[in-house]
Amino acid sequence: MTQLAGFFTPWIIYAVITVLHYFLPGKWMTGYVRHSQTGELLKYRLNGRLVLITSIALWFLLGYLGWVSYDWLYTIRWYSLAGACVFGSIFSILIVAPYPSTGRSWLADYFFGRLENPQFRNGRIDAKVWLYLIGAVMLQLNVLSFAAHQYLALGHIDANIWLCAAMLTYFVFDYLTFEKVHLYTYDFFAERVGVKLGWGCLTFYPYFYHVALWSTIDLDPANTPTWLLLCYSLIFLSGWTLSRGANMQKYYFKTRPEKAFLGIKPKTITDGKRTLLVNGFWGVSRHINYLGEILMGVAIALSVGYPGIFWVWLYPLYYVALLLARQMDDNKRCTSKYGGLWKVYAKKVKYRIIPYLY
Ligand code: NDP
Repeated sequence: MTQLAGFFTPWIIYAVITVLHYFLPGKWMTGYVRHSQTGELLKYRLNGRLVLITSIALWFLLGYLGWVSYDWLYTIRWYSLAGACVFGSIFSILIVAPYPSTGRSWLADYFFGRLENPQFRNGRIDAKVWLYLIGAVMLQLNVLSFAAHQYLALGHIDANIWLCAAMLTYFVFDYLTFEKVHLYTYDFFAERVGVKLGWGCLTFYPYFYHVALWSTIDLDPANTPTWLLLCYSLIFLSGWTLSRGANMQKYYFKTRPEKAFLGIKPKTITDGKRTLLVNGFWGVSRHINYLGEILMGVAIALSVGYPGIFWVWLYPLYYVALLLARQMDDNKRCTSKYGGLWKVYAKKVKYRIIPYLY
């Protein structure tokens, strides 16, 4: 019985998140991506942070009333992972199989997807916004449940687990607070919806990103000295500054090209048709935001206090693999989109991700 309930728990949670997303008040935003047929800018209805806060409140209420234990998601984690895996696989088949081939092999279509920007119910539900929302909220509920498990087992949450849970919570809130900025990212303008995005957001994102908690929550408290925890927090915040700073500077540049960001007036190069930023975060390296993301991953891995355990490093290692490959893809895309201008930019800003190194 527990196995079955555990298996279907993510299905129920995903349904609740969908209902909240659909019915709670949202803001219609014009995005960056154009409709492939009409050429019009797509519109998105966003309410991620409200859905997140409501979901946390529901989790708390169910625990408070004694209906669902606070650490239920921890208790059934393996069955829940299996359920999410099946859900993610079914979704990926349904979002690919009925639609016309892109001309690549069936396997490539299945993995990378066929539809570019599927929207349903007059655009009220955008598949990519929905997928990222489900992934983020489910990750947050898993993190809370893992932390609650330690609280229920020991009567307190030790400093390492606090820090790790706080960083992941910050990461999720940050993403959903700046949801509109993410409409300007690679996933939205360059990727289709298949296994990579579908299964990735429904299964991988909410069950892998807290691998550091997953692999250490039942070990003895690591008792990392406070000064070291402060260092980890600083690494996290520096990573966040690079990542959020670069994303915001680009967002302002794309939406209000003259506007200064953090007092940095945009400096640009142009070929008369297209323009690229060459100062601020975008003058340090061509993808300083990727370095920021990796630094946050390193801080999360370190925060649990067991740097000798291989599993905790999987999260930053995954980022290195994902973002190195993405940098190469994006470089190809920008070379073909910007032509000579991209070459001038690459000459001016030499480093791809890490200044003076790569
Ligand atoms: P970028 O935000 O770097 O976007 C790249 C695009 O920005 C290019 O294709 C180009 O698009 C535009 N661009 C590049 N250089 C310039 C420039 N100098 N001036 C103006 N425009 C430029 O990458 P992503 O979209 O991949 O990443 C966005 C964020 O999401 C990052 O912080 C990344 O780390 C994060 N991320 C997080 C993941 C997670 O799981 N947490 C996964 C993947 C990414 P164009 O000109 O066509 O608009």
